[in-house]
Amino acid sequence: MSSCWPFCREDDEDDEPKVVSGPWNHRMDSQVTHSKNTGIIWNNYVNPWESWLMPGLCGLLKWQKTVVCNGEGDHTNIPSDLAELDSVLPVKCPKGDEWQQVPPKGMRVTWLGHASVLVQFDGISVLTDPIFSSRASPFSFVGPKRYRDAPCNVEDLPKLDAVVISHAHYDHLDAKSVSDIHARFGNDVNWFVPKGLKKWFNDKGIKTVVHLDWWDEVPLPKHDDVKFVFTPTQHWSNRALHDRGWYLWGSWCVFTRNHSFFFGGDTGYCNGFKEIGERYGPFDLAAIPIGACEPRWFMKPQHVDQKEAIQIHQDLKCRKSVGVHWGTFVLTYEYFLEPKEKLVEEMQNKGLDPKDFFTLDHGEMVLLFSEEVSTQDIEV
Ligand code: ZN
Ligand code: ZN
Repeated sequence: MSSCWPFCREDDEDDEPKVVSGPWNHRMDSQVTHSKNTGIIWNNYVNPWESWLMPGLCGLLKWQKTVVCNGEGDHTNIPSDLAELDSVLPVKCPKGDEWQQVPPKGMRVTWLGHASVLVQFDGISVLTDPIFSSRASPFSFVGPKRYRDAPCNVEDLPKLDAVVISHAHYDHLDAKSVSDIHARFGNDVNWFVPKGLKKWFNDKGIKTVVHLDWWDEVPLPKHDDVKFVFTPTQHWSNRALHDRGWYLWGSWCVFTRNHSFFFGGDTGYCNGFKEIGERYGPFDLAAIPIGACEPRWFMKPQHVDQKEAIQIHQDLKCRKSVGVHWGTFVLTYEYFLEPKEKLVEEMQNKGLDPKDFFTLDHGEMVLLFSEEVSTQDIEV
């Protein structure tokens, strides 16, 4: 397609999905739902899920008027006193020698605010949806602003092998963070992005990028025993008024010899999670969104609440999950600590151990499974 931005899109060249051989026993013959592309310029990708409901114009106007303009239902209550805020939602600096190294055993997860998570395991470091900027917006002066600073900057990060991007919304695909990571790490970092976003990265001079459709699998370059898979979510994607559905949205699975990691990005609840669990579960660790979910009448199709997040944790058969997509930007009007507090409550209501689906402070890291016997131990 010729260049005629902003009115039509330029197609990315396809990345060939590969059959990745490895030590996994995944059930590739299980039934899955594929992405849906209408071929219509304005609304290329659409959700295939029956649970998806596009908010109608009336709903959008009602939300704009009651919630955005009138502030009705604004229960955020973020303390204006910094000391008080620090005491309930601290920001810790994750610097230190330990953090700079991938742990020899187990999985270390560090929450860097919102949906940005650093996971270090089996010799690799993977960063999800990096955003270190002060606003989730195309503009530096307007748009959702952080009420908690990023716990570190790009220059503080340990060596990275891969960055995964769930979708193109500004709180998940931050142009400055992408450019800063590329400036610091260059081609040492491999970018895994949804179908349709390859050109966006190429235009920034980034060549080490693959864009995938749901269920596509690729190896991590130079690590044939590491597999990245793009899997579904129920969401949507745009970066301007005219480009809705140009880029796919989804979640990511990462498999190494000893461990598995799932990143949920941004999603409403859909049957896709049962399909991911059937094909690839169980997972050792998942990062699942738990916030920006009120009011339910408007947000339910695109953002899970804590109860639905727990359902995802169970669908995927996760051993441990960490709650993300909360406590950083005011995107919706629930009480700012509600995602964290309700997660504990709902885990208890279901008779589950809140330690199995937990939250971290900003910049807090935790090392999981380091005491367990690994494949390497057996080979030795
Ligand atoms: Zn989003
Ligand atoms: Zn989001």
